[in-house]
Amino acid sequence: MINQTPPDLHAGVKILHDPVRNKGTAYTEAERDALKLRGLLPPRVHSMAEQELRVLGNIRAKPTDLERYLYLIALQDRNENLFYRVIMNHLEEMMPIIYTPTVGKACQEFQHIYRKPRGFYVSLQDKGRVKEIMRNWPHKDTRIIVVTDGERILGLGDLGADGMGIPIGKLALYTACAGIHPTQCMPVMLDVGTNNEKLLNDPLYNGLERRRVRGKEYDDLFDEFVTAAKELFPGVLIQIEDFGNTNAFRLLDQYRGNTCLFDDDIQGTGAVAVAGIIASMRITGSKLSAQKILFLGAGEAGIGIANVFVAALKEEGMNEDEARKHCWFVDSKGLLVAGRDNIAAHKKPYAHEHEYIAGFADAVEALKPTAILGLSGQPSTFTKEVVEAMAKINERPIIFALSNPTSQAECTAEQAYSWSEGRAIFASGSPFDPVKLGNQVFVPGQGNNAYIFPGVGLGVIVSRSRIVTDEMFLAAAHSLANQVTEADLERGRVYPALSRIRQVSALIARDVSKMAYDKGFTDREEPDDILADIHGYMYHPVYPHYA
Ligand code: NAD
Repeated sequence: MINQTPPDLHAGVKILHDPVRNKGTAYTEAERDALKLRGLLPPRVHSMAEQELRVLGNIRAKPTDLERYLYLIALQDRNENLFYRVIMNHLEEMMPIIYTPTVGKACQEFQHIYRKPRGFYVSLQDKGRVKEIMRNWPHKDTRIIVVTDGERILGLGDLGADGMGIPIGKLALYTACAGIHPTQCMPVMLDVGTNNEKLLNDPLYNGLERRRVRGKEYDDLFDEFVTAAKELFPGVLIQIEDFGNTNAFRLLDQYRGNTCLFDDDIQGTGAVAVAGIIASMRITGSKLSAQKILFLGAGEAGIGIANVFVAALKEEGMNEDEARKHCWFVDSKGLLVAGRDNIAAHKKPYAHEHEYIAGFADAVEALKPTAILGLSGQPSTFTKEVVEAMAKINERPIIFALSNPTSQAECTAEQAYSWSEGRAIFASGSPFDPVKLGNQVFVPGQGNNAYIFPGVGLGVIVSRSRIVTDEMFLAAAHSLANQVTEADLERGRVYPALSRIRQVSALIARDVSKMAYDKGFTDREEPDDILADIHGYMYHPVYPHYA
């Protein structure tokens, strides 16, 4: 009779299949002997730098970004150190592949390109045993969880369980941009169903074949998950990601006071945009308190920015009611004014007394803002008329077209600069190429959340803060703005170069953790040198020695 029991693999074979310890052809001669790897690898020993060259050659030869994404994820599954070395050494090239926009495409195709599980799935079927199943997660020192329920993936809507690509990608950025160790990161998909008909009708869809639950059933599962996470991984930081509008604001309000939890779509976006506005003040020579911002779009991103901006004005001594009057919103129903029907709770603080105005251009004329921020997901809404009006009202109008991806931006960099005769201070959500106007070259800044959340997460984790506050995001915004150089500003860029992101994140982490120590949010003793402490924690993608 044939023995059906699979053979127990010896340690050397296991190590080759463990992405955390695998070095591929970089095992030394001594390691090959010690780990019984002789014959299992081709004979030539390669350095990590040589392996990186091979990977780059492969990535660049791929015909599409989705193919590049698949190649990189496969590398992450077999050799994490090499994956992070490639990402970190080529961040500007790789970020659009492992994160937006390519990750969005990958999520849309997830059920068809699925190869190997990554991350952790908690579904409605696990109700009552969430803690028990979470014990299956192999990494016991989990410090950060990014969780999504897949309802509002980027600008792509409800992708159900296929939204898993987002927590995976975001955590890869935590590691690449801030050095949080990959084994301390846990991507989680909370599968509560989907209302996406295409997915429900696709036999290859990986999630539950049912419509989304709302109300008590939803809340109970979320709460069971949060409770289990806190018990199994004491002090863990939970980032909620790409939840639908109502759940995002509600869950953030409910948990932020007693759980180490934040929402990057709301608070991270808030900090990155406010950092851009603070840096703009160095160009205009004006003050935050002299700004009047008109937002197009009053969702998670717009309201999140307004909340951080209000915190910034309060820090300067303004009272909250007065500060809110510096932020105005136009949403899909026109100008947000007091008395308008059915105003959602998160918009109410910004519904001011004013006559109702239907169109954005008319609102610009009436309110005369110093800045317009686009977070509507609607392309071409910052029209020539709007930009020209802004340039007439202001010597240096602040125009941030933040909707993603590039195709959804409210205007292009070229339009903002040319319609304002080169006077606009422009930033966007997705990258735009430099623009040449006459003899001048403008380099648009990208208000990428990756400037903020990795540093905030790092600061919270290292300081062991029990909570994450809006003030920490404001501290992060100041920290980021301070790192914009004069040379950046001269070229029109209100954000530092992405290539400096590790340094940026470390300094943000320093300022965030300083706040945790000062405010008593942690029981950890403040180290003498906070920055050295932060650097000491940060992961670097190098191979360990096994012999
Ligand atoms: P959301 O769905 O929560 O909100 C969208 C808002 O836009 C709603 O208030 C809606 O009423 C409004 N809107 C829709 N159509 C409109 C129209 N024609 N005119 C005026 N308003 C309209 O979405 P969100 O999470 O707030 O994201 C909005 C956009 O911001 C997305 O494109 C997203 O990619 C982008 N974003 C950018 C960054 C960044 O640059 N760092 C970060 C987060 C989100």
